[in-house]
Amino acid sequence: MNRRNIISAIPGLIVVGSSFNLARAGFDVGGALGAATDAAKAASLTDDQVRGYASQMATYSDKQAKIAPAGSPYAARLTTLTTGLTEDQGLKLNYKVYLTKEVNAFAMADGTIRLYSGLMDMMTDDEVRYVIGHEMGHVKSGHTKKRMQTALAASAAQKGVAASGTRAAGLADSQLGDLVVQVVRAQHSQGNEREADDYAMQFMSRRKYDRKACVTALEKLVKMSGGGGTSWLSTHPSPKERADRMRKQIA
Ligand SMILES: [Zn+2]
Repeated sequence: MNRRNIISAIPGLIVVGSSFNLARAGFDVGGALGAATDAAKAASLTDDQVRGYASQMATYSDKQAKIAPAGSPYAARLTTLTTGLTEDQGLKLNYKVYLTKEVNAFAMADGTIRLYSGLMDMMTDDEVRYVIGHEMGHVKSGHTKKRMQTALAASAAQKGVAASGTRAAGLADSQLGDLVVQVVRAQHSQGNEREADDYAMQFMSRRKYDRKACVTALEKLVKMSGGGGTSWLSTHPSPKERADRMRKQIA
């Protein structure tokens, strides 16, 4: 979380009469004020809480997006290419397409998978499946949970977590916006990328999809990387090295 976000997160909690209703969201106001002082203490979220926050973030994100209606060409293609892919390792998956030229995709801990039509336009079905596997890899390897913990601990929302016991506290839109930026829109480390790619390769093998699609998807992104418009690359860096690494694994 950058400094500007920390500062903007706190007024959202303490300004009375803002769009955020403290009582409704179940926040302890005194505790929320105190949270600024012990922001360094990391919140330890349960998996249930992580799923609860992920689901709120997905609802928030969907509200900002233009979603391909059921039966439209993008939605129909996604339904077809995810046939039999209703769950992964016990997690029930739910899919939507965001209609935008942006080349991007993300997954969340509650099984939310969102694919941008710009990404679907440039990829084959198996390449899209690689992206789904890669995004699930970030969730399953705990990368998104760790980011969520860091973001919540660093904002005054941390006390909301503590006050709510084992459930996820209700967050305001401004806080959900910050969380989406920090959990979904921040750049992953190379280590995280390798871990997510390894998960994707196993995912492709388990499902009997063509693993070469992992390599070709990244090669397409490498070709595009000079032209901009690939926001997926800004959060999932170094596609060339990753393509080379996976090509060796398949050979
Ligand atoms: Zn990634």
